[in-house]
Amino acid sequence: MTNFAELRRQMIEHQMIARGLRDEAVLNAMSAVPREAFVPSELVEFAYNDAPLPIAARQTISQPYIVALMTSALQLKSTDRVLEVGTGSGYAAAILAQIVGQVFTIERHKILADSARDRLQELGFDNVEVLFGDGTRGWPSQAPFDAVVVAAGGPDVPEALLEQLAIGGRLVIPIGSEMHRQSLLRIRRVSEDDYQQEDLGGVHFVPLIGTSGWQEERSRQSTKEPVTVTLAELIYQSSEHFGSIKEVNLDKLLKRIGNSRLVLMGEASHGSAEFYEMRARISQELIEKKGFNIIAVEADWPDANYINHYIHNTSPDPLLETAPFSRFPTWMWANKSVLKLTHWLRDYNLTVAENNHSVGFYGLDLYSLNSSIEAVLNYLESVDPETAELARVRYGCLTPWAKDPAVYGQLMLTKQYKKCEKDVLATLRDLLKARLNYAHADGQRYFDAEQNARLVTNAERYYRTLYYAEQNSWNQRDQHMFDTLQSILSFRGKNSKAIVWAHNSHVGDARSTQMSARGEFNIGQLVREHYRRSAYLIGFGTDHGTVAAASEWGGPMEVKQVQPAHIDSYERLCHNVATDNFLLPLTKPIKPALRKRLLAERLERAIGVIYRPESELQSHYFYACLPQQFDEYIWFDETRAVEPLNRETSKGVLETFPFGF
Ligand code: SAH
Repeated sequence: MTNFAELRRQMIEHQMIARGLRDEAVLNAMSAVPREAFVPSELVEFAYNDAPLPIAARQTISQPYIVALMTSALQLKSTDRVLEVGTGSGYAAAILAQIVGQVFTIERHKILADSARDRLQELGFDNVEVLFGDGTRGWPSQAPFDAVVVAAGGPDVPEALLEQLAIGGRLVIPIGSEMHRQSLLRIRRVSEDDYQQEDLGGVHFVPLIGTSGWQEERSRQSTKEPVTVTLAELIYQSSEHFGSIKEVNLDKLLKRIGNSRLVLMGEASHGSAEFYEMRARISQELIEKKGFNIIAVEADWPDANYINHYIHNTSPDPLLETAPFSRFPTWMWANKSVLKLTHWLRDYNLTVAENNHSVGFYGLDLYSLNSSIEAVLNYLESVDPETAELARVRYGCLTPWAKDPAVYGQLMLTKQYKKCEKDVLATLRDLLKARLNYAHADGQRYFDAEQNARLVTNAERYYRTLYYAEQNSWNQRDQHMFDTLQSILSFRGKNSKAIVWAHNSHVGDARSTQMSARGEFNIGQLVREHYRRSAYLIGFGTDHGTVAAASEWGGPMEVKQVQPAHIDSYERLCHNVATDNFLLPLTKPIKPALRKRLLAERLERAIGVIYRPESELQSHYFYACLPQQFDEYIWFDETRAVEPLNRETSKGVLETFPFGF
């Protein structure tokens, strides 16, 4: 049984008090109202999360802190009569009802109004009246109100609400010219026709829809033009449709990519075959027709390096202790689609005469602490045994945890163990100092060792800060990936051109997603900031089908059903388009009207190596602005799970080479 009282206590402490909210009446009300009774039953476990949650009719129950902040901003007295616009779940109304004598609340969705009324009654709130209707007109028969609070964002303050305020009354309302971003205003009626206004800061509410709010139609697209075609029709007209990955004609895509030096390709899950196969097709054309010579992927350096040796027909040095990609999640790279590409790359490299035209395969990620340490030591032993000895001692600080570095991160919290930062940095410095000596003898091997030493340095920091909320380990990881990409580009020379394969969440510009509000950036953003128009970002999406994923970190791979996309998502919109597979140019749209109409934020789904369909909305969706996030979006209405290479059951080495032993 979940201990909701304890969760409530933690919510008050971590979300309210920690943010400086000290209003005692509000804190008492928040401790008294069972928020779990106001959220959909499948989301009960998330009821006290520091976030809004979806409820029926595509609406949300506000984040607890926002409810507290708004209630506190109303400066209530116990005798006040309060009007709320936007009942939603009824949660905020219940909080108000704990504090004041009488609450009137209006909701424009009948289903929400009815269920909130029942819920409040069941919970014994007999001082709340719920009305189904348009709250932008207020509730004239009950006016004046000592306080009015609006839980949805409109373009202007509705006149009716100002009129229905008592003298001395307060109106708290989010107002903004964009549909999903507002400033929270507090307006005080000082006298019959004198109002004072304060700005309480930026907020993010669902739109206020009504006579003095946004128009219903326009909530989908914030333009004033008459709507003649639906958005799904416009996408249909603005996209290149195709039947199969084998046959798709990519000429126009290649034209749009133009002279870009970088092409970043995402994926909406780590386990859907179509995303891999389409990226392989596009990569092959970029290699053959535009001279791209780098494929850099969201995998660890040593594993990818193993593949790099395979496709160059050279022997890996040092040999990995285990087969490449044997760390969880194995299917992400050890799958049939990737295997096919490595064979193609090997054949392709046989046809190129000059070394700098051959295609290299590289890993951008930093989870291979153990094998990277091994790789650095092996390299040093072969070129400089004395330095190798010293490096072994220095890395000794980390080796007890190298196989399970998260433990190192946890131990660092206790401050009883020695931090290994200086030791790992010293090894990297030694390598860099000797760069000229080592590198001229063997550029490729030196480069490999240097990248491994950088990986160890960054991984040490990544794990050390993993458990500190204020230090953002996501950013460290993406910064490492971007820095690695930069190193590869410079190693491969000034004419080098790179293709990146990573999840949409790394590749799509973070500034146009909810990530940015958390202070997170990603490779897509860093690449755009550095390379501007010389980078082309491609996102991928799907509606339904199967996906390879685990239920928890480290768990076994399962083939799961992908749920049909959420009604308020870009995916649902694409599903409604009258064709199954398409390329949708966003930066250079086929129909210029498209971009503008896609701008209003919607939900977007991200399935990683874990997929939990049961709590999909909470764990896999976030808000984004698609046409700003990517230059192009590639859609497969239905997708199927990747086929993992099964080392245990495959008949022999050859079948899965270079992945198996
Ligand atoms: N206070 C709510 C938050 C609901 S979100 C809670 O605690 O759960 C905002 C709600 O405002 C949505 O349910 C939406 O349907 C409603 N809404 C939007 N425009 C409205 C209008 N003009 N009149 C009444 N309700 C409106």
